[in-house]
Amino acid sequence: MSAFEPQPQTLLDVIIVGAGLSGIGAAVRLQQECPDKSFTLLEARDAIGGTWDLFRYPGIRSDSDMYTLSYDFKPWTNDKAIADGADIRTYINDTADQYQVRQHIRLGHRVIKADWSSEQACWTVEVAHTDSDGSPKTSTLHGRFLYLCSGYYSYEEAYRPDFPEEDSFKGRIVHPQFWPEDLDYRNQQVVVIGSGATAITLIPAMAKEAAHVTMLQRSPTYVVNRPLRDKLALAMQRIMPAKAAHSLTRWKHILLGIFYYRLAKRRPQMMKKRLVQMAAAELGPEVDTRHFTPDYNPWDQRICVAPDGDLFKDIRQGRASVVTEHIERFTADGIQLKNGDILPADLIVIATGLKLNMLGDIQMQVDGQPINPADTMAYKGMMLSGVPNCAMAFGYVNSSWTLKADLTAGYVCRLLRYLDEQKLAVAIPERDPDVAEEPFLSFTSGYVQRASKVLPKQGDRVPWQVYQNYLQDRKIMRNSPIDDGVLRFDPAPGKAPARADAGGGSA
Ligand SMILES: Cc1cc2nc3c(=O)[nH]c(=O)nc-3n(C[C@H](O)[C@H](O)[C@H](O)COP(=O)(O)OP(=O)(O)OC[C@H]3O[C@@H](n4cnc5c(N)ncnc54)[C@H](O)[C@@H]3O)c2cc1C
Repeated sequence: MSAFEPQPQTLLDVIIVGAGLSGIGAAVRLQQECPDKSFTLLEARDAIGGTWDLFRYPGIRSDSDMYTLSYDFKPWTNDKAIADGADIRTYINDTADQYQVRQHIRLGHRVIKADWSSEQACWTVEVAHTDSDGSPKTSTLHGRFLYLCSGYYSYEEAYRPDFPEEDSFKGRIVHPQFWPEDLDYRNQQVVVIGSGATAITLIPAMAKEAAHVTMLQRSPTYVVNRPLRDKLALAMQRIMPAKAAHSLTRWKHILLGIFYYRLAKRRPQMMKKRLVQMAAAELGPEVDTRHFTPDYNPWDQRICVAPDGDLFKDIRQGRASVVTEHIERFTADGIQLKNGDILPADLIVIATGLKLNMLGDIQMQVDGQPINPADTMAYKGMMLSGVPNCAMAFGYVNSSWTLKADLTAGYVCRLLRYLDEQKLAVAIPERDPDVAEEPFLSFTSGYVQRASKVLPKQGDRVPWQVYQNYLQDRKIMRNSPIDDGVLRFDPAPGKAPARADAGGGSA
């Protein structure tokens, strides 16, 4: 934890919430592009890394290629394109050290409340932490700009449906978000409930030691074999400087991702047929391809990745299998299915996903009025209508999160510089009643549908539309004028607390 404890009345330029991939990236950008700004980074947990520190289930890895999930300013030089959680955690920690971000981070500081005062043009942020003697304490900070890099799901609670007669099961039941360190599943019969990225990651990792792993899914998911290593990227790393190799590989993956996403949207039937054919070729004639034939179109939900075809290989070779059926009830020794079959189990893993949240579960108010994100419209997918001087990092769902989070960080820096140049203090996206509401995310996935009560809306036109497209966003976030007639700007009022020095982290 940093030694820096700003005086209650000190006004920081920026308060960043969350020290995951987005928060650390935002802090680096802020230091590089707005070196005169004071800031602090508040992190609820006792470690940085966010997702990549929290999740510890066997095999935890990225789903995206790391050339786009990493930052553009720090080359990904590990030889794996699809990386293990521990390597991503190390990469984030190395970034925090290399770019001198760590001294600005306050671990164990959970933001619980944030109130905007138009009179003072600043946020008053309430932070829960523990005192040096371990007793709970609440402190107050003031900041001109609140930058929420708090992710999109609850760290405390996962999504976990209750299954009938769970208590009758004699074995252990675990959720991947809270993986017990002592869990020994060697030679056990394991059933993993779920068919999302987590299940598809877990199964090959557990199949190495378990007697057998069954993936029990209600409905299938598209799964594609992708190479664990990018040979071209590794060859480029050998013959050119790391930054150049990283940049070229990053662009290759960005453009390929956009190409395949567009193809899926324009020719869904062709794409669907191709994905199922590819899965069938991986599985061989013994396995029924209906387990890998979803009833939705590709990219209506996220497509899952099997690095070097690991999942397919385990199924082909009998270490794992897939069952597509609904659960009737748990029994003492396993799960009874609606079709009457029994799946024997010593261990059941409930990989049913995340509980989405917004704004880091912070109670936010503007001049005493509570903010419900679901009542707002997202401006450029990163500010909320009617909420002054506040941005959130919300990445792509159809490609790497970091691509959008980084564009957002760049835009926030541009906005802060613009306010300074124009001698202004406040920027508020003002909602236009003529802009029609649309869902923030177009995915049909269960977790997106469940989250519709907490997600903001998007609009039917620029700048309210949330593009899931890096090239379009890059143009808008980097080049479009800050003063676009939608953001309203206000000058500084008289009554603000004293401003902290730049670099705010050093005491
Ligand atoms: C298992 C898993 C695998 C994933 N794989 C990929 C992938 O391959 N590619 C991809 O693009 N995306 C993936 N994602 C999405 C992933 O979360 C993002 O890629 C990225 O890690 C998000 O970074 P973040 O910093 O925005 O959020 P997080 O990693 O969630 O970090 C948010 C941080 O904010 C802190 N925080 C939250 N609320 C508060 C508060 N009120 N006060 C203080 N601190 C707070 C949290 O403690 C946390 O440290 C995956 C997600 C999961 C769960």
